[in-house]
Amino acid sequence: MGSVAQVCSRVEPMRFRRQLPLDLTGDHGELLALIESTTLSQGQDTVSWLLEENGNYSVKSMYARLSRGATIAHFKDVWAAKIPLKIRIFSWQLVLDRLPSSSNILSRHGPGNGKCALCGELETADHIFFGCSLARFA
Ligand SMILES: [Zn+2]
Repeated sequence: MGSVAQVCSRVEPMRFRRQLPLDLTGDHGELLALIESTTLSQGQDTVSWLLEENGNYSVKSMYARLSRGATIAHFKDVWAAKIPLKIRIFSWQLVLDRLPSSSNILSRHGPGNGKCALCGELETADHIFFGCSLARFA
């Protein structure tokens, strides 16, 4: 196993032991086109998360990215993913801001005051997962 640059520099094209399903053949072609359009360095490959300046993955950056461009079309992969149904439904509710946060319950004339029980700020899904400083230490 070599770097991406080493694999791409080989004269013979990449082959697979088994034939790729038709839907993956298109993905493979797109991947090759993406690699060809990229300038590769000769050094060792590294993994870097583009949504953070330091290159390290964070749930916060992923959430911000997903919630920015969330549409039904963008979310179809989550529905197709082999994860428990309750996780799919929870993710769908999170992206659409339909989780039963205190502010959502209040906006539907339910009980409560819309405030976080831990810190007293407005309780939204964003606050529950990323904003509540007390929840981080609870
Ligand atoms: Zn809070």
